[in-house]
Amino acid sequence: MFNKLVIATGNKGKLREIQHILSPLQIEIIPQSALNVPECEEPFCTFIENALAKARHASKHTGLPALADDSGLCVDALQGAPGVLSARYAGKNSPNSLLTQDERNNDKLLLEMNNLSERHAHFYCVMVLVRHENDPEPIIAEGSWQGIILREYRGTDGFGYDPLFLDAKTEKTVAELPLEIKSRISHRGHAMAKLLQKLERLSHE
Ligand code: IMP
Repeated sequence: MFNKLVIATGNKGKLREIQHILSPLQIEIIPQSALNVPECEEPFCTFIENALAKARHASKHTGLPALADDSGLCVDALQGAPGVLSARYAGKNSPNSLLTQDERNNDKLLLEMNNLSERHAHFYCVMVLVRHENDPEPIIAEGSWQGIILREYRGTDGFGYDPLFLDAKTEKTVAELPLEIKSRISHRGHAMAKLLQKLERLSHE
C-alpha cells in the first residue's frame, strides 16, 4: 500500500515504542524530525482532533503518509485531567528549570491528588494514519489501559507518567515494565494492534 511512513511526533518515548511495534513490517519508518517538520499546534479538546491535526500537518510538510499518536493520562477523580493537556500539565518547561517537563508534570499530579484516596486512572491513545494530506478516510484506532496512580515514584524506564502508573494486572508501574511487555499491554500497543489489523484488511481489498 505504501513503503514509507512518517511518524508525526517529537516525543522520543512514543517514537521508540511505535518504532518497536512497527519493526516487523516492510515499511521505512521516518521520524518527522528527520524531515524538519515544524511543531504542530494541538488546540483541540479531544484526542482524536489533535491526532488528526498532527497527522495531516506531517503529511502536508513531507508529501508522505503520516501516522500520529495523541495520548494522555485521564484520572477519574480529576474528571479526566490531565487528559489532552498531559504533555504540558505543569505548563511549558522553562529553559532554567532543573527538572524535566515529565518530572514537573508528575510532581503536579502528585500534588493535585495528595488528598485523594480514589486513585483510578487510565491511559488513552488514538492513532491516526493519513495516506495524504487530504485523505478523506483516515485510518483510526484507539486503545486504553486501566491502572492506579501511586503516591510515590517507582521504576526508571519509559517516559511521562510511567513511574506513577501502576498496572492493575502485573502490579508493576509502567516504568518497571520492559518495553516488550509495555508494547503488548499498553494503550499504544492496543491502538497499534487494531491499526495494523485495519491496514492488513485494506491491503487485501
Ligand atoms: P501528546 O504528545 O500531546 O499526545 O501528549 C502525550 C503525553 O501523554 C505525554 O507527554 C505523556 O505525558 C502522556 N503519555 C502518553 N502516553 C504515555 C505513556 O505511555 N506513558 C506515560 N505517559 C504517557
